[in-house]
Amino acid sequence: MNSESQQQAQLRQLPGVNTLLEDMAGDVAALGHARVKQALRDHLSKLRKAIRSGETPKICAETIKAQVITALASLPTSNLMPVFNLTGIVLHSNLGRANLSASAIAAVQAVAQGASNLEFDLTTGKRGDREADIEAIICELTGAEAATVVNNNAAAVLLALNTLAMGHEVPVSRGELVEIGGSFRVPDIMARAGCALREVGTTNRTHLTDYESAIGKNTALLMKVHSSNYRIEGFTATPTEGALADLAADYKIPFMIDLGSGNLIDFKVLGLPEEPTVAHTLQNGADLVTFSGDKLLGGPQAGLIAGRADLIAQLKVNPLKRALRLDKMTLAALIETLKLYRHPEQLHKTLPTLRLITRDLTEIRTQAESLRPHFIEALGSAYHVDVGDALSQIGSGSLPVETLPSAALTIRASSGEDSDLRTLHQALRELPKPVIGRLHDGALRLDIRCLETHESLGLIDQLSELRL
Ligand SMILES: *Cc1c(COP(=O)(O)O)cnc(C)c1O
Repeated sequence: MNSESQQQAQLRQLPGVNTLLEDMAGDVAALGHARVKQALRDHLSKLRKAIRSGETPKICAETIKAQVITALASLPTSNLMPVFNLTGIVLHSNLGRANLSASAIAAVQAVAQGASNLEFDLTTGKRGDREADIEAIICELTGAEAATVVNNNAAAVLLALNTLAMGHEVPVSRGELVEIGGSFRVPDIMARAGCALREVGTTNRTHLTDYESAIGKNTALLMKVHSSNYRIEGFTATPTEGALADLAADYKIPFMIDLGSGNLIDFKVLGLPEEPTVAHTLQNGADLVTFSGDKLLGGPQAGLIAGRADLIAQLKVNPLKRALRLDKMTLAALIETLKLYRHPEQLHKTLPTLRLITRDLTEIRTQAESLRPHFIEALGSAYHVDVGDALSQIGSGSLPVETLPSAALTIRASSGEDSDLRTLHQALRELPKPVIGRLHDGALRLDIRCLETHESLGLIDQLSELRL
């Protein structure tokens, strides 16, 4: 133990932050003044703590500087960066959901680079409406009278409820009081929108009469929520959309449906299980339909609201609308994504989300086979690499119980230890473009569905940097 006075002497030896900074001009230029200064402060405070607790760390300005720079330089240069999604979940909420189409990306770049006619009418030379084009194309594709757009579907539901039902009651079936991954819970959104939830029916069965007996003079709206990420099976009952629409009309209140994913085309054409389309839902009598931009639609994060013109007009003048409005880059990406729907027969090529969902199994397997030798070489004898069957999912609550046959690199540890698999998964995540797979059943599975053919090379090239 060194004495109090020895400690004091050591503390006095510590160089000051500004003294250290003085001859670090090069590092400051490369890494940023505030960052380097803060890192030096943190390091010095660690040293002080060590001295006070009786340790005798080596105090040398050169060592301190070197340690701080090494630590800073080893941090990723960007916090938000691309990864390889080999989880088998096409629309992965934690990995950014839909990949944008080439035309959407080009449109984002164009409006990001310079001025645009965002709110400027080129014909009259006067102020324009930022939503005119997007509204027109949503109406064209859904048959809706009017439409508007906000930040995401949660915002769409919030805006609709707040506009049409603040201070009033909204009956919702108990089977539809869902939580969508993360923090979107129907009851919470209703509370924040200022409306009172009136639960009707039971978890598995709700009848038209349950709704009818819940309607009173304080009821503002009927709402139906698509049970996105789960499915109730067996002894179930729920009134048809048509019956609910008629009931709402009888009581002169609007009927709104939160479709969640909400797609625009008939999925059977693509050989996929049916999902309700927005057009069909409106034909069934919904007055308003809300849905996401970055789920099955395959566009940027956004919330779309389509339906009756008088209701949309009310939504547009709610002050919340201004707080939830879309920025120019999202608008540009969304318009270009929607334009692709004018040629639905091309969508399996032009829209990445549908391209990945409809990928040919043989193609995926061949690609996995071609990757296998590269993984065998990179991983050595500590791991076994095979190509196995896999089941991909669409994700983001779209078609939750449907799976898509796929192929995966199935990696097992020669030791049989899960810890070796976790070490490998961690090392894959530390690659320049991190690789995200799935640990399941004693194997690390890298589902190749979402690795487009042209991306194989990029994955192979960085395997030599794997640090195990
Ligand atoms: C996904 C989903 C939401 C939330 O949509 P975001 O675009 O993620 O905000 C709301 N309701 C349902 C039914 C959903 O499936």
